[in-house]
Amino acid sequence: MEGTVYRSTGSWYDIKTIEGLYYNCRLKGKLKLKGLKVTNPVAVGDLVRFEPEENTLDQGIISDILPRKNYLVRKSVHKTEHAHLIACNIDYVLVIFTLDQPKTSLGFLDRVLVSAEAFRIPTLILFNKIDLLDKESLDYVTELADLYTELGYETALGSALDPNSISFLLEKLKNKTILITGHSGVGKSTFLNSLSPDLDLATSEISSFANKGVHTTTFAEMFDLGHGIKLIDTPGIKELGIMEIAQDELSHYFPELRERLGQCKFHNCKHISEPSCAIKKAIEEGEISYTRYNSYLSMYGGEDNRK
Ligand code: GDP
Ligand code: ZN
Repeated sequence: MEGTVYRSTGSWYDIKTIEGLYYNCRLKGKLKLKGLKVTNPVAVGDLVRFEPEENTLDQGIISDILPRKNYLVRKSVHKTEHAHLIACNIDYVLVIFTLDQPKTSLGFLDRVLVSAEAFRIPTLILFNKIDLLDKESLDYVTELADLYTELGYETALGSALDPNSISFLLEKLKNKTILITGHSGVGKSTFLNSLSPDLDLATSEISSFANKGVHTTTFAEMFDLGHGIKLIDTPGIKELGIMEIAQDELSHYFPELRERLGQCKFHNCKHISEPSCAIKKAIEEGEISYTRYNSYLSMYGGEDNRK
């Protein structure tokens, strides 16, 4: 049989089949993964093959892990050469951005985008609470959305209080497995509750991707929101983000830098103070946004790592 991993608690995995049956499974002893060195071979979001155990109603043994389209990992706390798998097969990172109430920094947004790029997860940036914006602020947010659209990200302007925004999200996210992120108060719970009236989340119950949470547990969990939307909740994900990304790889995860790599005079150009740097030139010519470059610099300098 085949199913999706919704939760893992130590050596047991909660699995749901396509038919909606729940099983509690363990790993077959010799199951090993090629390539990736991990402390936990199976994570939330994994599609697995398993054999129901005889004489039980709902227990099974996992025999295979089906190929993953992507996965989130962080360094293992205990074994440094190993990675800890957090979640797999994520279709979308939904980033909720608010210009105001609360203010979301572009640095935060870019950090999430870089992480999502590094893990090859498509992103949807939702600029929320536009009902609170005056004309000037709305123009600014529209410009921001255009900037990120041009970089290849999906963007939308909306309001969690507007039924049109809800139906837009439903259409976008149905039958998808998602992560949601954004500062506390941006409207995550409001959106999730509207997508799933049965869920009834209190504010900030959902931890967020690349956010600075206070959780210390490392097990992610998956919830059905209805309409086939699966939400992965990932406590402890604050350790993620750019900490996994080496300085010399960072520019690969900014699409506008990536496309100009190789055009700098020095092949190992850091795009900071080197002469004949194609990136600096593009900034001067207004082809690369200064705010994006700022985010690059602050991530390169490890500001986020030190916080
Ligand atoms: P979370 O911490 O990200 O889960 O944020 P919540 O969903 O709890 O929202 C925080 C507050 O913002 C609540 O009082 C919501 O009603 C309000 N809110 C959320 N989205 C919008 C919006 O688009 N417009 C306005 N005006 N208020 C919103
Ligand atoms: Zn350069």
